[in-house]
Amino acid sequence: MRILITAGPTREHIDPIRFLSNCSTGFFGYQIARESVRRGHKTVLISGPTCLRPPNGIKLVSVVSAGEMKKAVERFFPRADCLIMTAAVADYRPVKTFSKKIKKGAKRITLRLEANPDILLTVAKKKKNHIVIGFALETEDLNRNVQKKLEAKNLDYIIATSIKRGESPFGDRKIRAVIMARSGKKEIIFSSKKRLSRIILDKAETAKYPYKGIEFSKKGGE
Ligand code: C5P
Repeated sequence: MRILITAGPTREHIDPIRFLSNCSTGFFGYQIARESVRRGHKTVLISGPTCLRPPNGIKLVSVVSAGEMKKAVERFFPRADCLIMTAAVADYRPVKTFSKKIKKGAKRITLRLEANPDILLTVAKKKKNHIVIGFALETEDLNRNVQKKLEAKNLDYIIATSIKRGESPFGDRKIRAVIMARSGKKEIIFSSKKRLSRIILDKAETAKYPYKGIEFSKKGGE
């Protein structure tokens, strides 16, 4: 299969030095990319800035902002069988990016923000027989919010994690993930991101080729 994966945060620059971003490390997306290559899939990884070493055998497309990530996804999506959108895309960007470093001195400054386009919503309109898997981090009302996102973004699966106080879902750790299918079927799995990567790819393969999924997941072996 041709698998397109996005990972990491995006950065929305305020000036050449400062930016708005989030806590995503990119770990999950890189893990899925590693597993995807191990299974023999042609893998493109579109990554925001991370400190991770890209897996061997993938095509890496490095981006910074949500705008750049959108362009890259739009470029590779038509030729992909499956899009796995783990990236934590910044929802807002500064209305204006200053070309020079903003000098300190003012007691208070106001930053005006505007909404970034939703990449999944954009590609949802171009979906043909692609398998599209989205991710979500929720702090409240996980089930209702996730079901809404799955429908709005025309996803085949959504993988949701909740952020509770004192429990971080970021980086290399076990997480409690809710995997919701388009059919409404829901599984709750507490696992490492490595094992979850395998489960997610099994689902993508089976959704694309219902009779070949088992063969795919065995390929590569360990
Ligand atoms: O709506 P929310 O941001 O929670 O949805 C999360 C999913 O949507 C993730 O898969 C994320 O990569 C994707 N997303 C996107 N474009 C955005 C924001 C989120 O594709 N601007």
